[in-house]
Amino acid sequence: MINPPLYRGSTVLFDTYEDLLSVYDGTYEGSVYGTDRLLNQRLFEEALLKLEGGYLTRAFQSGLSAIQNTLMAFTKSGDHILICDNAYGPGMYFSKKILSRFNIEADVIPSDVGADIKKYIKPNTRFILLESPGSITFEIQDIPAITKIAQGKNIVTALDNTWATPLYLKPFELGVDISIQSVTKYIAGHSDVLLGAVTTNEKYAAQFEKFYSTMELFAQPEDCYLALRGLETLELRLKEHERSALEIAHWLKSLDIIDTVIHPALPEHPQHEIWKRDFSGSTGIFSFIFKKDYATETIAKFVNTLNLFGIGFSWGGYKSLITVGKNRRVFDSAYKDKTFIRLNIGLEKTDDLMRDLDKGFSVL
Ligand SMILES: *Cc1c(COP(=O)(O)O)cnc(C)c1O
Repeated sequence: MINPPLYRGSTVLFDTYEDLLSVYDGTYEGSVYGTDRLLNQRLFEEALLKLEGGYLTRAFQSGLSAIQNTLMAFTKSGDHILICDNAYGPGMYFSKKILSRFNIEADVIPSDVGADIKKYIKPNTRFILLESPGSITFEIQDIPAITKIAQGKNIVTALDNTWATPLYLKPFELGVDISIQSVTKYIAGHSDVLLGAVTTNEKYAAQFEKFYSTMELFAQPEDCYLALRGLETLELRLKEHERSALEIAHWLKSLDIIDTVIHPALPEHPQHEIWKRDFSGSTGIFSFIFKKDYATETIAKFVNTLNLFGIGFSWGGYKSLITVGKNRRVFDSAYKDKTFIRLNIGLEKTDDLMRDLDKGFSVL
């Protein structure tokens, strides 16, 4: 068979009594129990590790769980952490609501931060969480400038690399210690899996492995099976998402009713030069802002008119999606209080998608 068998289970049977004894002295190599990373999880982790080019990969029940556990694995009472303003919101929420109870203090840093991160680092800063580009306003951080400073101060840097995937950005080559993926998005790619992954460099592998096994974290075998299958077509799908999204972004730019299209691969994107330097491609999710500040009912009419764009959160699948939101950032930006239309461009024909959007625009 081409694909591996799918194994589920709680009890794992050992071949011999000697094998059982080797579990007690820690030398047994395989899974010892259903919580101990069964076959499909190990195969997925191994494949993703190769793509990431890191040292250790572990799977999680979701992308958010990957973020939360990374934060816990590398912090202790009295530590200070920094989180990018455009990072996935629930990570900051977790820090403010849960980590704060363990005397860990979190501060926000600007979405386009670079070497100026120095201003925000305190003597007890232990961890920096980046996301580049952030998945609503798509600001890009100067990752090498940040990691250079962090390395000098022994601060752990983690990057949520969900937008680019390891195909279009190589975090470890830019000096990042930890790469985080919401596998839910492009890697699984079909909107039927929730899964996360963390890959570490050599320096932090042992600490993370210990944390993961102590917490008895694991991911569901079916989800790992589907994610491994998703990896086989990731490159093909990304190329198509990239091509379609760029075509639609350029078309949107040409329309009178649209003020700004926010897509890192467009030359007018504020950090386009950094994107060109660090990334080898762009993917299928971007935002735009209308010239007029339409009333909620008008936006509702526009969104409800669309047939091909589903209304829903998450992204990275084959179906095009639309969400609408206000930009709620801590730091000021040109986008403050603007209404963002975020598109996930799926694998449908671009002509059909543009016709659908055009029909929606006609009701504005
Ligand atoms: C969706 C998302 C997450 C959370 O992933 P889930 O698997 O949905 O929990 C984290 N980071 C980014 C950038 C995301 O888009």
